[in-house]
Amino acid sequence: MNVIDIINKKRKCQKLTDEEIKYIIDGYLNGEIKDYQMSSLLMAIVINDMENDEIYALTKYMADSGEKLDLTSLGDNVVDKHSTGGVGDKTTLIVAPLVASCGVKVAKMSGRGLGHTGGTIDKLESIPGFTVNLTEDEFLNQVNEIGVAITSQTENVALADKKIYALRDVTGTVESIPLIASSIMSKKIALGAKKLVLDVKVGKGALIKNINAARRLSKLMIDIGKENNIEVICVLTNMDIPLGNNIGNALEVGEAIDILKNHKEGHLRDLCIELSSHMVSLGLNITYEEAKEKVLTNLDNESAYNKFLELVKYQHGNIDELPKASNTYEIKSKTKGYLADIDAYKLGLLSMSLGAGRKNKEDTLDYSAGIIVSKNLNDYVNEFDTIMTLYTNKEITDIDNSIFKISDKKIKDEKLIYEIIK
Ligand code: URA
Repeated sequence: MNVIDIINKKRKCQKLTDEEIKYIIDGYLNGEIKDYQMSSLLMAIVINDMENDEIYALTKYMADSGEKLDLTSLGDNVVDKHSTGGVGDKTTLIVAPLVASCGVKVAKMSGRGLGHTGGTIDKLESIPGFTVNLTEDEFLNQVNEIGVAITSQTENVALADKKIYALRDVTGTVESIPLIASSIMSKKIALGAKKLVLDVKVGKGALIKNINAARRLSKLMIDIGKENNIEVICVLTNMDIPLGNNIGNALEVGEAIDILKNHKEGHLRDLCIELSSHMVSLGLNITYEEAKEKVLTNLDNESAYNKFLELVKYQHGNIDELPKASNTYEIKSKTKGYLADIDAYKLGLLSMSLGAGRKNKEDTLDYSAGIIVSKNLNDYVNEFDTIMTLYTNKEITDIDNSIFKISDKKIKDEKLIYEIIK
């Protein structure tokens, strides 16, 4: 077999065989297939797609490419969650302790930023001292003791996904249903998940731009789950505008704390309640309504916030010393009217350029960098009102003014949750 023939086959829209997919995964892992060849194949997949059989094979070989974790020692009530990626998506920071405070164990392995979207591990690393590299024993012990642990993908689990994920991030090959489905589900299979809630983001700031594509991705992941004994619920959610007001690692940790302390309303909180209720319902085998009651109670009485503090302490973090950027820039409205659009994709790119995301594999992040959007959709703004503040340690000269639209009329309220697919 030859990698160039395989690349050419995909370039011509032909279906790859099981053996060819195995050859690619093995060859890329052992270094025989180079980054530039893999990038080329990934781009052909982005453009020409894959059939379901190819996606199942890709998922299987990626899941088999490292060690597999056995979570049976944690019991039956372990639930995982994953997001397909968005801008300002800090739900894991809120949902993991919230669900754990309801008596459901959360053993969460998270990723770094991907393209213009952020990653939970980068956000957690912005907390000084926070350890994101738990060993398998530390991870399992922590879940047993306090009900929740969040770690980065360990060296040994789904190795192929880890390597391909980092390459996709910097080669424009992130936005692809086969690549997203196989990346997420290979990790979940390798991690031994049995119950899983997936937040499938749809819209300008998401990797998936339209509802039909989101449905296809969801059905694929549910089917892969069925094949592997994983019960999957997909929640399809709006990502046209950023989730919450803060974008950028430390800034997002700050906003997550505000939600956990019950100091903030809005669509971020609403989505966390929705995802947590599905997770608690799966974990405790109770109805969605019963689960939601527990979730709301534990947000109200700060059990969720206390669980977050326990999690941070266990992983050696210190939330009193979140990094702060030395420069701030206020972006003001040039006109008056209603805020009719906040483009999540453009904000994601802007946040990256301020230092919050990577352009190259080896880039280091500025954890303090990011954006706080101080207005919400349909808020009335006057000329010179601040719409957003940029935080960075760089000098900024040029800002894309098309990020916001101001209109003389309010826009129709967009749905936050489009549909649930099981
Ligand atoms: N999350 C992942 O783990 N992989 C993707 O490809 C996208 C989101």
